[in-house]
Amino acid sequence: ENVQEKIDYVFKVVVIGDSAVGKTQILSRFTKNEFCFDSKSTIGVEFQTRTVTIKDKVIKAQIWDTAGQERYRAVTSAYYRGALGAMLVYDITKRPTFDHVARWVEELRAHADNSIVIMLIGNKADLVDLRAVPKEDAVEFADDQGLFFSETSALSGDNVDSAFFRLLEEINGVV
Ligand code: GDP
Ligand code: MG
Repeated sequence: ENVQEKIDYVFKVVVIGDSAVGKTQILSRFTKNEFCFDSKSTIGVEFQTRTVTIKDKVIKAQIWDTAGQERYRAVTSAYYRGALGAMLVYDITKRPTFDHVARWVEELRAHADNSIVIMLIGNKADLVDLRAVPKEDAVEFADDQGLFFSETSALSGDNVDSAFFRLLEEINGVV
């Protein structure tokens, strides 16, 4: 990463999913390599950025956080405008957050561009003993809907970078 390099592309990515699944912590892990144990809902910060190089292209990922608008239909279409990618997050220890994923996909289909690349994320993979969503259920859903899929832990950092890189590579392939 070299911030002085010329930027070839800015990719807007939105992070969505139910409240408390770890959206803000995933973002903080990817952009700052930080995890905040007593995080409060972020107010006033619309997005965070990280600049990465993919196949000789310098890409600034501009990643938007819902900051407490996670109620169904509360996220406005302005939030989705121009988004090339979406991280759709659920919590592997909370079944309802996975059951709501279909609704979030509907929201994306209704408000985002047709070509948006969607990555389904099962977060809190460090809490294995509390798992309530089998990985196979998520793999099946993702295959059905044409989504990419990864399980992550914002706490340990496992798979967070690789999930974002996978998404950005995919976007880079279609622009
Ligand atoms: P958001 O509402 O989706 O933005 O969720 P937050 O990022 O604010 O996280 C909600 C709660 O889950 C906080 O108490 C976090 O510390 C916790 N959390 C987030 N990610 C992880 C994770 O990967 N593992 C564990 N064990 N806890 C997490
Ligand atoms: Mg949040």
